Amino acid sequence: MLADQFDAFLLDLDGVVHVGPDPLPGAVDALARLRHRGKILRFLTNDPRPTRAEVADRLTAMGVQAELGEIVTAGWATAVHLQRRGAARVYVVGSSGLAEELRAAGLQLLEHGDPHAVVVGCDEAVGYPHLRRAATLIRRGAQFIATNPDPTFPTRQGPWPATGAITAAVSIASGVRPLVIGKPAPAMFHAALAGLAPGVRAAMVGDTLDTDVLGAHQAGLTAILIAEEPPAALSSRDPRAPDATIADLSRLFDPAQPLRSPPPPTFPWPQEIRPGVAAVVFDAAGRVLLVRRADNGLWGLPSGHVEPGETVAHAAEREVLEETGLRVRVSRLVGIYSEPASQVVTYPDGRVCHFITASFACAVVGGGLRPDGVEALAADFFPTDQLPTDLLRMHPQWLTDALHGHTGTFR
Ligand SMILES: [Mg+2]
Repeated sequence: MLADQFDAFLLDLDGVVHVGPDPLPGAVDALARLRHRGKILRFLTNDPRPTRAEVADRLTAMGVQAELGEIVTAGWATAVHLQRRGAARVYVVGSSGLAEELRAAGLQLLEHGDPHAVVVGCDEAVGYPHLRRAATLIRRGAQFIATNPDPTFPTRQGPWPATGAITAAVSIASGVRPLVIGKPAPAMFHAALAGLAPGVRAAMVGDTLDTDVLGAHQAGLTAILIAEEPPAALSSRDPRAPDATIADLSRLFDPAQPLRSPPPPTFPWPQEIRPGVAAVVFDAAGRVLLVRRADNGLWGLPSGHVEPGETVAHAAEREVLEETGLRVRVSRLVGIYSEPASQVVTYPDGRVCHFITASFACAVVGGGLRPDGVEALAADFFPTDQLPTDLLRMHPQWLTDALHGHTGTFR
C-alpha cells in the first residue's frame, strides 16, 4: 500500500483534504491513520491569503489534527524565501494574512521608499494605485515575487481572479516576469521539505496536474493524484502524468494500489511551444554553413523562430540572411524535430520555450558571408567530416539527415 512506501506525505488541501469548509470522504480518518503510523505530514496550499495559524484552525475545526509547523502556505513560503535571500524591505500587494506572515518573518513592509522586493498575492481589495506602485517599483529595480501562479480560484459563482490575474497586470505594466513561489515552483517544495532528514521518502498528494503533480516531479518526488480516473491522453514522459491515481485518501491504505516510478525530469517545463526553423546550407565544395551563436557561444546550423505571418520556408531563408549575410533558397524539407531534451530552451529572463523545428536543405543564391555579430558571432563553411566539437546537441543529427537525403524525418 502507498501508505507504507513513504515516510512523509505532502498534502494539497483544497480537493484533497477538504472542499470548501467540508472534509472530503475518508480524509479525516486516513490522516489520523497516517499520523498513528508515524508519518510526517505537511499541508500545502497555494492560497496566499490566510496565515498558517488560520489554516491550522480551519483544519482542526474539520477534525484534522494539524500543527503550525506542518502548514505550508504560498504566503509563508514567500516569507521564508525572502528571509533566506536577505530581502529586508518589501512592498506588498496582498491580503492582511500575507502581510502578517511577512512581518512575522522579520520583513519590513514599506508604503514609501524603495523596497528590495515587490510581493504580489491574491487581494480582493487590489486597485489601480497598487498596480501602478508595484509596476513602478519593479521598473526601478525591485525584485518581482508572485506568491503563486493560480489565475483563478473556485467559488460558488464560478472562477474568480486570483494571484495570477493580478501578477499578469503588473508583469505587462513593468515588462518583468515574476519569480513564482507557490506550486509548481520549487520554492514551495523546498519550504515543505525543509527540516526533513536526507533520504526521507516523500510523496505529494494533490488534485491538480499542472501544480501538484508537475511540481512534485520537478522536485524529484512521487506524485499521487486524487481523481476518480487517471488522466487520459498524457504521454508517460509528461511530468504532469501522476505515478498513482486514487479516488480519496483512504486508498493510501489499499493493498492493491499500483505505483509507477516517476521518470526523472530531463528538461525544464516549458510555458509555451514555438515554431522554429533551421537551414542546412552546403557550398559548392560540399561544406556546411555553421554559425557561432551569441547566446551560448556554441556552433550550430543557422536557426531561429518563425515570425508572425511568415511561412516556415521564408523564415529559414530570412534567418540565414540575418545571421550570415548569405541569400539562400529552400530546396527541400529535411525533417521536423521536437526532442525536448535538446529543444527546450531557457531564456535569461526565466522564460522556457519548447521549439518544434523544421529543418530545410538550402542552396546559396547570392550575398556574402557577413555574420551579424548580434545573433551570430562568426559564420563559416566546414567540411562535414571536420565539424567543430562545440556543436549544438541535435545539429549533427539534422546534418546527417540532410546528407543522407532523407525527407520527412521526424523526431
Ligand atoms: Mg487542490
